[in-house]
Amino acid sequence: MSAQIIDGKAIAKSVRDDVAKKVSELKSKGINPCLAVILVGENPASVSYVTGKQKALAEAGMTDRSVHLPESTTEEELLSLIEKLNNDTSVNGILVQLPLPKHINEDRVIMAIKPEKDVDGFHPVNVGNLMIGRPGFLPCTPHGVVVLLEKMGIETSGKHCVIVGRSNIVGKPLAILMSSKKVNSTVTICHTGTKNMAEIVKQADIVVAAAGHVSTVTRDMVKPGAVVIDVGVNRIPDSTKKSGFRLVGDVEYEPISEVASFITPVPGGVGPMTIAMLMANTLEAAEKQNGLL
Ligand code: NAP
Repeated sequence: MSAQIIDGKAIAKSVRDDVAKKVSELKSKGINPCLAVILVGENPASVSYVTGKQKALAEAGMTDRSVHLPESTTEEELLSLIEKLNNDTSVNGILVQLPLPKHINEDRVIMAIKPEKDVDGFHPVNVGNLMIGRPGFLPCTPHGVVVLLEKMGIETSGKHCVIVGRSNIVGKPLAILMSSKKVNSTVTICHTGTKNMAEIVKQADIVVAAAGHVSTVTRDMVKPGAVVIDVGVNRIPDSTKKSGFRLVGDVEYEPISEVASFITPVPGGVGPMTIAMLMANTLEAAEKQNGLL
């Protein structure tokens, strides 16, 4: 068997095209959806993620109010910028690129963003709404995974989904979404305290790897015919590349492709979906703030 590759880039493009159409309709009514992405410091991965988000904003026709602050920015300075953007009615969404420099408390920063502008879906109000199935902003990466499965026509109802990773931004919210009535999977979460992880992953119809380590999921752990979604993004040295590195996921891509039914590549799988869902959330924020939803 050879797995069908899930083209996250193409699916993300169709989501972004839909967003762009709606943005142009809003603009004709005088509403300009606007996102402020705040980057503190020069972490190369963060710089590249923010550049990707800005490019997507421009392509969707949305206003980009991004701010790049120096590494030396204090927590107070960052909080006061967020306060300003919270009160600025021309800004619909605020996203603070994580991780932040160590001297800034991420929790305090996330808590400072108005839930109505929290397009990352990380504020406890949005996390709580997700938990109890109320409307709110869904976190972009987990939402992107669910949309990928949906657009590929992959059956999720009654399926066993094993998620490797329990972070607040990927593993835990994805477990809530996958076990929602709408998606209807049975969910198991694995983490570093899990015993016999290979045996548990082997029971999965859908495996999601979000551990942040190369080769966390190997071929022997995957049931033939399983769907494999790789959220991981790891930089590994590669002297053939100009940058000196290349990106790989958390699963052993080639060997697993021989047994899985569907697989996401890295890059080009979940990553583009994260940005697409961010665009969709920003549009939603603009619609809600203008009384259209
Ligand atoms: P994180 O906060 O570091 O969490 C990783 C989780 O994986 C933790 O719960 C950890 O368990 C678990 N874990 C780590 N190694 C494991 C192992 N060998 N076996 C079982 N569980 C293991 O990471 P994250 O923010 O969720 O991100 C995960 C990966 O996804 C990273 O590579 C990140 O770059 C990538 N990511 C990609 C996107 C995208 O758009 N494609 C978006 C977000 C993140 P403990 O809780 O026990 O420590």
